[in-house]
Amino acid sequence: MGRRVFRELVFRAARRMWEMGLVVGSSGNVSLRAGGVIYITPSGVPYRHLRPGMIVELDPEGNPLRGACEPSSEWRMHLLIYREIPGVRAVVHTHSPYATAAAVKERLGCLHDEAVLLFGKEVPVVRHAPPGTWELARAAVEALQGGKGVCLLSRHGAVATGSNLTEALLRAAALEEAARISLLRASLGD
Ligand code: 13P
Ligand code: ZN
Repeated sequence: MGRRVFRELVFRAARRMWEMGLVVGSSGNVSLRAGGVIYITPSGVPYRHLRPGMIVELDPEGNPLRGACEPSSEWRMHLLIYREIPGVRAVVHTHSPYATAAAVKERLGCLHDEAVLLFGKEVPVVRHAPPGTWELARAAVEALQGGKGVCLLSRHGAVATGSNLTEALLRAAALEEAARISLLRASLGD
């Protein structure tokens, strides 16, 4: 597959993430690693205005290969995940509301069977670090080394990884559902 196809795949996944309500405006970001290139959404571009040609290409050290736009400010986190977590080919970062609300606590307990199957009993919440920093990237990688493919970023949002974009997106949606169920249950007050 040519590079244009990979840019198109990232574009479609990002639009899908937006249509699913996992992000608003220009929050969150998506990337794909293919053939030694990281394809990542541009920084600060509203999904409504995103076009396939705006997807930025980086080499494995984070140097820009192509793209008129700035790469996502979270490029360090995406890059380090690909470098450190075997088998990851796609990364989705959202600010989906229930997951982000859950991320003010220390962990998210999974309550329904499907979430337990996917993520185990708990999803880790990464210690707080400023957005866009290596510190945040390292903290996320540490949590993902647990092997469930997802983590929450304290007071910030969620990260989901996968062997492809569809898997990463599905995990991001399932994580949002798990957080929603957990908060609904908490509202029952028992
Ligand atoms: P970018 O628009 O730079 O990708 O930033 C969005 C975000 O979620 C920062 O954490
Ligand atoms: Zn973010």
